[in-house]
Amino acid sequence: MTTKKKLELLKNGLSTLAFANYCDVPESTMRGYLKGTIRNPQLNILQKIGSACNVPWSWLASDTQPPMPDEWKMASISHENLKTLLELDTEVIDIETSDEGTPFPVVKAYDDEDIHLVFYCIHCGTWHSHGRGGKMAQFEMGRKGAGGHRIAHCTVKNSPYKPSGVILDVVGKFKDLNNKRREQKTLFCPKCSNYYSAAFNACECGFVNKKRKSAHPELEKFYHEMLNPLTWAILPTKKGQKSSLPQQQNKSVTAKNGSIAVGNSIAGNVTQGDQQFRNPDVLTLARLLDEFESPAAIKVMIKKYEKLREEMDF
Ligand SMILES: [Zn+2]
Ligand SMILES: [Zn+2]
Repeated sequence: MTTKKKLELLKNGLSTLAFANYCDVPESTMRGYLKGTIRNPQLNILQKIGSACNVPWSWLASDTQPPMPDEWKMASISHENLKTLLELDTEVIDIETSDEGTPFPVVKAYDDEDIHLVFYCIHCGTWHSHGRGGKMAQFEMGRKGAGGHRIAHCTVKNSPYKPSGVILDVVGKFKDLNNKRREQKTLFCPKCSNYYSAAFNACECGFVNKKRKSAHPELEKFYHEMLNPLTWAILPTKKGQKSSLPQQQNKSVTAKNGSIAVGNSIAGNVTQGDQQFRNPDVLTLARLLDEFESPAAIKVMIKKYEKLREEMDF
């Protein structure tokens, strides 16, 4: 993701002027960054934007995605984040928590009355099977029989069943289950060569499969937010969080130096602005103001003014 794209994300619907004021950088500079006309953003400006928007400036400066923080990676995920993923999982009927706070998902299991207890893994897209204690074992609901805690058989790298396993809770006989789910092909990541979750429809490396849709949109949405570096910067490990990107209304936008008044803003930019970063529209307006006598010039000026006004959301 380029610096330009990241700034657009942070701008989040604000006008360029309001965003520039929010970050306390010149409006013309911000416009240059957003339009991509200023190719090498200055470090001190990026630091200002970073501190105003609560993101690391080093992230803004690079064109590449930084690596995902450990608390979001499945192998070392925080208890809070794991719990949120399990709460959004429709196959999980309960969550048990150990004394140390580790969450364990309780999943719907079915007895084949032969060899296995099976449960459908929405991440691998397959039925995982676990021994039921032999053919002679009696059918038992819940965890009285062969149910209970098992190590997950998941093959996908970012399966949330991997960190603590699953607790099988027998809810019925497999033969009585209507509309048995079909197994699907395990999804392989072209970017990092690992298998990734069908429910998340995305890989831990940041790869998102845009060609298919997940059957679990809430999980998919949450996981995609997890992959977004803005989420890491803003909400790393908050308890019981429902992640969301910064909202426009959270930003306290204050107009500085009277720049909300059009006349002041334009005059301010022309007389005080840094020559190098001047908005071409502002320069044209200044030139037209010099030629104020000409009615044609005034017409052009009004047009330019209206366009600028629209762009700046006055
Ligand atoms: Zn699995
Ligand atoms: Zn990958």
